[in-house]
Amino acid sequence: MVSGGTDVLVELQRGVKPTQTLIDITALESLKYVRREGDEIVIGGLATHNDVLASQDCRSRALSLVQACAEVGAPQIRTRGTLAGNIVTASPANDTIAPLVALGSKVVLRSERGDRTVDIEAFFTGFRTTVMAPDELVAQIRVRATQPDERSTFLKLGLRRAQAISVIALAAGVALEKDGRVQCARIAIGCVAPTIVRVPKAEAFLAGKKLISFTTSAMSEPWLNEQGQWLSLRYLFDHYLTHAFGMQADEHVHFGNVTTGMPKLWADRHLYAVEQQAKAVCATVLTNRAGAAARVAAS
Ligand SMILES: Cc1cc2nc3c(=O)[nH]c(=O)nc-3n(C[C@H](O)[C@H](O)[C@H](O)COP(=O)(O)OP(=O)(O)OC[C@H]3O[C@@H](n4cnc5c(N)ncnc54)[C@H](O)[C@@H]3O)c2cc1C
Repeated sequence: MVSGGTDVLVELQRGVKPTQTLIDITALESLKYVRREGDEIVIGGLATHNDVLASQDCRSRALSLVQACAEVGAPQIRTRGTLAGNIVTASPANDTIAPLVALGSKVVLRSERGDRTVDIEAFFTGFRTTVMAPDELVAQIRVRATQPDERSTFLKLGLRRAQAISVIALAAGVALEKDGRVQCARIAIGCVAPTIVRVPKAEAFLAGKKLISFTTSAMSEPWLNEQGQWLSLRYLFDHYLTHAFGMQADEHVHFGNVTTGMPKLWADRHLYAVEQQAKAVCATVLTNRAGAAARVAAS
């Protein structure tokens, strides 16, 4: 199937997923929408990254997804590329997946047999593989809209400011008690494993705590101990988690009044600062990723 064609044409050129037949679905205008349905934001199978950026519902109730869409490629890619295409390609470096996981989303698959709904975390079965049958189409992505007491955010480390594939991407969401303590947290990280992964120990660690730098620095340790092979990423995650939650702790009033300029403001003030700090460890990260990729290939 071809929607935006920004992934599928590259894959065909490289001999990945070779096929004799391409079905262009771009004429299915009924799949091109982003709308609110109760406590969900429903994104049609042909909605583009720019459609998400343009949606007031997404900007106010799914900020981390908006931040991720703003980071995808360049304006041309965001105009053509769809969220459905992004999740079906199923690369752990695809930017919208971590926020969709952290926010809590479902994928509606359609075929002649009817519709079935799959939780986003169950949608991915491995590196670039999904539960989709060959005759199924992503009809909708249903995202749980954040409530007034919730905050969400997305951070991406790339090797340049634009058109960069993620080296690490992190999406986080927290629900806060009235006194500012964390009720519950969901954190999803991309590029560190064959699929986007949740970090349950770090999520549990945050419950009942206030979001201050000390809390967020401390929380990177338990998760990294669990995943021993990623220990050398500790420094990077310290900064990512601290910044992600530091933003939520310090700027939640601001986040409550999101404007169209928010992604740029957010990027200017935070992402590039984090990027600078992280550059020092980038070489180590890449060396380790190459080693990890070889281990994944060998297994
Ligand atoms: C220069 C460049 C920069 C990029 N930068 C980024 C980036 O920063 N971050 C990022 O995450 N990605 C990036 N991408 C990758 C790509 O643009 C995105 O993944 C995009 O969202 C793919 O959507 P698409 O509509 O173009 O998918 P397509 O290429 O049309 O399709 C991709 C896959 O999804 C399937 N598919 C598409 N729609 C459906 C549907 N509705 N139902 C079932 N299957 C479907 C296709 O069959 C194919 O297997 C970049 C690509 C390029 C070329």
